Amino acid sequence: MNILGDIRDFFFPRICVCCGKLLSSQEEGLCVSCMSSLPLTGIRNTPENEMERLFWGIFPIERATSLYYYARGGSVSKILHGMKYYGRKRLCKQMGRLIATELSNTSFFDGIDYIIPVPLHKSRLRDRGYNQSELLAKGISELTSIPVITDALIRTHNNATQTHKSASERWENAEGLFKTTENAYSLHSKHLLLVDDVLTTGATISSCIDALKTVDSVKISIVTLAWTKS
Ligand SMILES: [Zn+2]
Repeated sequence: MNILGDIRDFFFPRICVCCGKLLSSQEEGLCVSCMSSLPLTGIRNTPENEMERLFWGIFPIERATSLYYYARGGSVSKILHGMKYYGRKRLCKQMGRLIATELSNTSFFDGIDYIIPVPLHKSRLRDRGYNQSELLAKGISELTSIPVITDALIRTHNNATQTHKSASERWENAEGLFKTTENAYSLHSKHLLLVDDVLTTGATISSCIDALKTVDSVKISIVTLAWTKS
């Protein structure tokens, strides 16, 4: 029995981020019923899958996968919203652990040296207090023991929210958005796993790749919690 957890739940009742139902002490972030009805992509570690193909011609990435399909107003959008705007930090890590669990009996993580979350700009990080992608990465790291690196890639400016932008605007907006720091020397010849909460056009992650591919002999894979498949 987790007495501290029960006391916390009494004073601060926890509710499911999707349906608003009270959570039991065993549930974290969302209820069992919502969890079991989330739209899995089922991509797992399928080579040359549709998500991976989005990056063909940009960089020869090793692997790409996403756990859930995103639909506006759907359960996954509520999870992402909770992760970003409602300080659901535990939910972020829980989702990271879920990604790791889902891929645990595949070879997806084989040979990956470091996990790199897509960085927030320092001013947004200050406002939000945390980077949801970094917490996702930490959740993955908890189960895979692959270290998370946050000081090798930075976001150079704070682009406005991408939500209402067209695909071409998103690409323009993301150009030159990231750069590597002097710490990126440690990434030489390493296989990196880029982690983000959601992949839409691929513009943001492509911009990260543009920065990281300046590191010699680097290999890159991608995992996101959600994917807006067009
Ligand atoms: Zn629920």
